[in-house]
Amino acid sequence: MGNLIKYFMLNFIFILLVSQMSGCQKTSKSIDNFDDFGVDKSSPVTVSVSANISTAKTIIPKQVVEAVPILMYHSISVNPKNDLMVPPDVFAAQMKHLHETGYQTITFKDLEDWQAGKPIPKKPILLTFDDGYIDNYTTAYPILKKYNLQATFFISFNYLGDSRHISWQNIQEMYNSGLIQFGSHTNSHPDLTVISSTQRQAEIFQSKEKIEEKIGSEVIAFSYPAGVYNDLVLRDVSEARYKFGVTTKPGNARVEQGLLSLHRVRVHGYYTVEDFVKIFP
Ligand SMILES: [Zn+2]
Repeated sequence: MGNLIKYFMLNFIFILLVSQMSGCQKTSKSIDNFDDFGVDKSSPVTVSVSANISTAKTIIPKQVVEAVPILMYHSISVNPKNDLMVPPDVFAAQMKHLHETGYQTITFKDLEDWQAGKPIPKKPILLTFDDGYIDNYTTAYPILKKYNLQATFFISFNYLGDSRHISWQNIQEMYNSGLIQFGSHTNSHPDLTVISSTQRQAEIFQSKEKIEEKIGSEVIAFSYPAGVYNDLVLRDVSEARYKFGVTTKPGNARVEQGLLSLHRVRVHGYYTVEDFVKIFP
């Protein structure tokens, strides 16, 4: 893993240098009162785009994108007491806004291809949903379909198909649509830092294998339950050959964070649509 991270660190420094050196006009927006939104001040929310390339339709080379927002959702439902739940009407307005303002959803596979030199959309954004709640299928998925937005659902294998979580049938349908990718959120959603190494490895390796077996394609992204991890967890996630790991640390994802410990932008249940628009203008 060390070499991989070093490689991407160097790559990232190169990207930064190129974007700083480019003589073209940069547009970089950030919002006031960043901290009010729980977003790391050191991580501007929007990407920087060089003007001469932005005239090219929708894709730009990776050299001009500094960071990618990975949004973190959980349940799309109404519960004012639970900040993890985003009301359906608010979620629908957020997706409509992303659609209308030219954001283009990408997947972790796109991130991987981007690292290999393929272009990335001008306003890239990743939508992620943790825990595989049933409303991700009944509520979020129809809205994502309406606006043709891609997303990654991180699922905990043992919970699939119970009354609160999506089933394999739901997963198959959504995967076949081409819009929804699936990542691992372990088997049983434990704190990975307090269980035995045998249990930890089972949670990390087996969940990947089981999902791959079901959907018939490689699972490359992992979400740490409750965002908790340590060096041993990182080592196992690397050895299991996940390419990306996402945490609950706030801010845009940048290569310097390490591809297995990328930050995310939490979409709070209490956000108004206006709050969201300020973060993603
Ligand atoms: Zn979770």
